Amino acid sequence: MAKKWVYLFDEVEQAEEYVGGKWENVRGFLGGKGANLAEMVRIGVPVPPGYTVTTEACNAYLAAGEKFPEGLNEQILEALITVEKKTGKKFGDPKNPLLVSCRSGAKFSMPGMMDTVLNIGLNDKTVKGMIKLTGDERFVYDLYRRLVQMFGKVVMGVSDEAFEHVITDARAKAGVATDTELTAEDWKAVTQKFMAIFKKHTGRDFPTDPYEQMNLATEAVFKSWNGKRAVDYRNAAGISHNLGTAVNIQTMVFGNLGNDSATGVAMTRNATTGENRIEGDYLTNAQGEDVVAGIRLTDDIHKLKKEMPAAYGEFEQTCRMLEKHYREMQDVEFTIEKNKLWMLQTRDGKRTAQAAVRIAVDMAEEGLITREEAVMRVTPGQVDFFLHPQFDIEAVKAAKAAGDMLARGLNVSPGAAFGVIALDADLAEKWAKEQGKEVIMVRPETRPDDVHGMLAAQGILTSRGGRTSHAALVARQFGKPAVVGVSALEIDLARRRISVNDRIIKEGEWISIDGTVGELYAGKLPTMVPEFEDPWLMKLLSWADGFRRLGVWANADYPADAKRARNYGAEGIGLCRTEHMFFEAERMPFVQKMIMTNRPYERQDALEHLLPFQREDFIGLFRAMHGLPVIIRLLDPPLHEFLPNHVDLMRELADLKIRLKGAATLQEIDNLLDQIKTKENILQRVQQLHETNPMLGLRGVRLGIHIPELTKMQVRAIFEAACIVAKEGVDVHPEVMIPLTCHVNELKVQQKALEAEARKVMEEQGIEPNYKFGTMIEIPRAALTCDQIAEYAQFISFGTNDLTQTCFGISRDDAEASFLIEYMEKEILTENPFAVIDRDGVGLLMEMAVKKGRSVRPDMECGICGEHGGDPQSIQICHELGLTYVSCSPFRVPVARLAAAQAALRDKKITARED
Ligand code: PEP
Ligand code: MG
Repeated sequence: MAKKWVYLFDEVEQAEEYVGGKWENVRGFLGGKGANLAEMVRIGVPVPPGYTVTTEACNAYLAAGEKFPEGLNEQILEALITVEKKTGKKFGDPKNPLLVSCRSGAKFSMPGMMDTVLNIGLNDKTVKGMIKLTGDERFVYDLYRRLVQMFGKVVMGVSDEAFEHVITDARAKAGVATDTELTAEDWKAVTQKFMAIFKKHTGRDFPTDPYEQMNLATEAVFKSWNGKRAVDYRNAAGISHNLGTAVNIQTMVFGNLGNDSATGVAMTRNATTGENRIEGDYLTNAQGEDVVAGIRLTDDIHKLKKEMPAAYGEFEQTCRMLEKHYREMQDVEFTIEKNKLWMLQTRDGKRTAQAAVRIAVDMAEEGLITREEAVMRVTPGQVDFFLHPQFDIEAVKAAKAAGDMLARGLNVSPGAAFGVIALDADLAEKWAKEQGKEVIMVRPETRPDDVHGMLAAQGILTSRGGRTSHAALVARQFGKPAVVGVSALEIDLARRRISVNDRIIKEGEWISIDGTVGELYAGKLPTMVPEFEDPWLMKLLSWADGFRRLGVWANADYPADAKRARNYGAEGIGLCRTEHMFFEAERMPFVQKMIMTNRPYERQDALEHLLPFQREDFIGLFRAMHGLPVIIRLLDPPLHEFLPNHVDLMRELADLKIRLKGAATLQEIDNLLDQIKTKENILQRVQQLHETNPMLGLRGVRLGIHIPELTKMQVRAIFEAACIVAKEGVDVHPEVMIPLTCHVNELKVQQKALEAEARKVMEEQGIEPNYKFGTMIEIPRAALTCDQIAEYAQFISFGTNDLTQTCFGISRDDAEASFLIEYMEKEILTENPFAVIDRDGVGLLMEMAVKKGRSVRPDMECGICGEHGGDPQSIQICHELGLTYVSCSPFRVPVARLAAAQAALRDKKITARED
């Protein structure tokens, strides 16, 4: 017996049984749309009868070189007979014709990626039958022309423009402004012209056999799985290419049967803010595509309550029921045919980051989901979004005052962006990728084949479309700021420019958009990171904090960074890189003096000048982190980094020597000679310090051993600061971290000297704060011998930037600009190891280090302070390794809090949906 390829909407149990019960698999098998239609039927939601051709059938069709698999044809005919029985209509029957729609539906919703054909089953004969039945010739010819148009476009690839031209002409000829004013005769004439266009472009007549229409449409859906735009979308969204799409054939219901009929789309909650209030658009007396296409101005869904109270009541109740059933915000399509509500589709609604957070929190508080699920439902990327730029308020004020605010549109995807105008997707992609330009893609509306341009752009601006338009959905999904439906915006593609109320801006010139409020500005407005105060996010993160096992600390060098980090929820400073402070202008002369001299007393003098600066830095940090640990790393980079560049010095010297030749006065000569001498000294020292491979040279602990006075000064500054603030009542926890250790003996020598200095300071100050000495693990040898290291180090912190560099033998400074990208393109490496911890290599070293270290010092604090500490995938690994904390940049702290909680919840097998 042939495999079962076709499932009626009321056969969900059979599908479930076939795939082994899991809803996830049912979705994979029937596609998201088909599975949800079947599920709606199961729970008693009014759904027009129909059936789903499975994704397996699609894959079999494509694998067989575009041939229906055995039994599919027969099963389709059988299913159709059942649908006919349910509706009391017959496919192709001129007296009482059944009309169906054909829609794609893959496992994951891909907005607009696949195509829809409505009104299948119409031909010259059934049209007559329909006219008799409805008594509405205009309505029927409108259906017929839509079928020819959609079929031509979707199934046969005829360009839509040819069809649209005919309609524009018809309107002009009839002297009317909108399609609704066209008469039966007009639509009849349009249909005939469409038939001619169809023939001209395809070389064949429009198929009049309803079965042929249906089969060709089904095949077109199958084929569109491999269409360019679908492939592009899947690549961008990380969706597997071998899932296939299902095909849904569904009885047509009509929202264009008069003023007691309507059609619309809605979200069960506000997709932008997350507010628990239905949001949507509808049109009275219209067919579904009119709403999405933005041809007619839609009405707010809440108006329907007044217009058709009974149907709206049922709709509202259905929405609540669907939310309760799916435990998720739903995106629905509906049609009201002569006051009878039909649900045509439901799926989880796409939403902004703000909405995702608010909906997850609200749903947990409403008891629809657990707090754990709420935490799992928000992605780290969505939390990151809260830290996205907004326009500087003052710049907005100034722009408004200068008349640079051009217009308002719909604020469909938040965040602020500026860029040069690109009027098509290819150019947007080209400018962004090849020329590194910031681009705002501006279009009348977007289509699925624009996605590559949207992804490359900083933001998206359209003159048409609504909250549920393609541009809005895609922008929201990918977190791109977007403003749509700017009616004042005119786009002149021919002259490559836009205009808003007579103000003309050419392609390539700057504009700025604010997707949070829906505003459009001329010029380039500076952006800034918003305040971090969304109450729903705060609540979600506080729940996350209760679930996670990993601590979340921050890398911060200055008190202001530390305050921000703490504000974002950091529980400690995991890395303060002291060298950053050395670069400040007032300190540089002393730093350079310290490096230049060979005389101990001169060096000591320079260090004594640096000491108060460092002490002040640390006092600020300790105060900001009252009650929390602060890890201060001793100086790490090679000394030549603090001296002028070798080439610059040579050039400056040459200049001075030329000037000397032309010097006129003795005083000038003396002065120049002095300068030349100084420069020559510096040059000589630079040459002495020059290393062919400085990353593997005199840096880190090696430097501390080489110039012990330097690290001693730093330790003195740390402990003086700690004692001073401790006396003020600050709860201070300094941890001194020695960088780049590779051998326990380095630690022995350096730590002994430094501990002695620390003790000396504490004695002088008469107070002994809690403190620790520890080291970074940045070199494989240190990881491999971590048991020896743990004899001395009270804590370790993985410097995974260097550990990745030394484990791979790949320069962290050069690789990303050269072969590493090629490696990823060729899939030699699937991830950039400098962004995501290499689990098999670096991860293994970390695992060994933790095990060995804790075998000697069971409660040893093990952290990470490399860039990976803020990366969700790496945080998962750190959780698995049992690290004490991850430390990352302050801006990534909220993301890390969520990612750490999610890693812990995964241990308990808690997923985003506990169905
Ligand atoms: C590291 O190597 O991971 C680290 C944190 O140190 P730096 O980046 O300063 O070398
Ligand atoms: Mg390092």
